[in-house]
Amino acid sequence: MTVPLLDLVAQYNSIRDEIEPALRSVIERQAFIMGPEIPALEQAIAELSHVRHAIACASGTDALLLPLRALELAPGDEIIAPAFTFFATAGAIHNAGGKPVFADIDRATFNVSPESIEAAITPRTRGLVVVHLFGQMAPMERILPLARKHGLALIEDGAQAIGARRRIDGAWRMAGELGTVGTLSFFPSKNLGGWGDGGMMLTQDEALAGRLARLRLHGGARQYHHEEVGYNSRLDSLQAAVLLVKLRHLQAWNQARRARADWYARALAGIAAVSPPPTDPANEHIYHQYTIRAERRDALLAHLKGQGIGCAVYYPVALHLQPCFANLGYSRGSLPATERAMEEVLSLPIYPELTEVQQGLVVDAIRRFYA
Ligand SMILES: *Cc1c(COP(=O)(O)O)cnc(C)c1O
Repeated sequence: MTVPLLDLVAQYNSIRDEIEPALRSVIERQAFIMGPEIPALEQAIAELSHVRHAIACASGTDALLLPLRALELAPGDEIIAPAFTFFATAGAIHNAGGKPVFADIDRATFNVSPESIEAAITPRTRGLVVVHLFGQMAPMERILPLARKHGLALIEDGAQAIGARRRIDGAWRMAGELGTVGTLSFFPSKNLGGWGDGGMMLTQDEALAGRLARLRLHGGARQYHHEEVGYNSRLDSLQAAVLLVKLRHLQAWNQARRARADWYARALAGIAAVSPPPTDPANEHIYHQYTIRAERRDALLAHLKGQGIGCAVYYPVALHLQPCFANLGYSRGSLPATERAMEEVLSLPIYPELTEVQQGLVVDAIRRFYA
């Protein structure tokens, strides 16, 4: 018996009867671009994320690119971002004309360290991108004052954190609620995944929402009238129809991921060579990934794959060490906690449909490796 890293077929089978009529209704109307599913999804996600405005777009990458473009960066303008994240975080900074400046992570949570952000601020810094990595939020209450003090835009990359929340001053705050802009991705493997690419931008600021909506449609609010040069970055109506159905299940799915994470944590507790991922006590984690640290990680990875157990390293090469950013002048040793994480992390299968039997196979295979 094998255990896949992710099983989207199992998820599809559980909602097939709801999704097919939703798709058929789009097909029968033939309104594939900006159909009524788009504002319906935007409103539902705005409510979930406690924001006034949600603007759907073509991908989580574009959801980062458009607000960065709205900053109108000049050559040499700097945007601080963690180096331990998916490539899009920094690729979008580069493509918006900015210079990525990389910050290190907190050893415990893998999230960007506020101290490292503060140390990276220069007179050229224009903004920060914070990533809520693997499904738990970064410490926004420590990062927001830095952004305010230095007049910086704060973008929350929430691609892995839809529905995640953090208790700040006694109130639950959603991923994407507090920054200048929050972003989401509907890439199929994300906690809310479409049947293709998709993304969403979140903001409380009405004027900025209008600007982002324009940038998504070739820079013009009115067709054939262009205030600025924008993009073709719409979400398809078919994708929105899929996402509206799946959104009804998201809370239960995130809860099921938490239950599976708790199960792993108990089962792995006796294996000294691995450490389960700690949750910051202020956070409600949505476990986009269940990422352990493991001794002899590469050998464990090969062993698990040999046993038919899906697992993966997110991320094997941090962004400050990517060849395309060599010109930025980083080297090994620049970001010690990030570099240690890329050598130690291993993500195990986690999804709502994962059974206890499957989890047992994963843990038994890990135990046998170290025995
Ligand atoms: C997936 C992801 C993105 C990009 O989203 P796409 O929809 O694939 O473009 C950006 N940032 C992070 C942290 C991600 O995990």
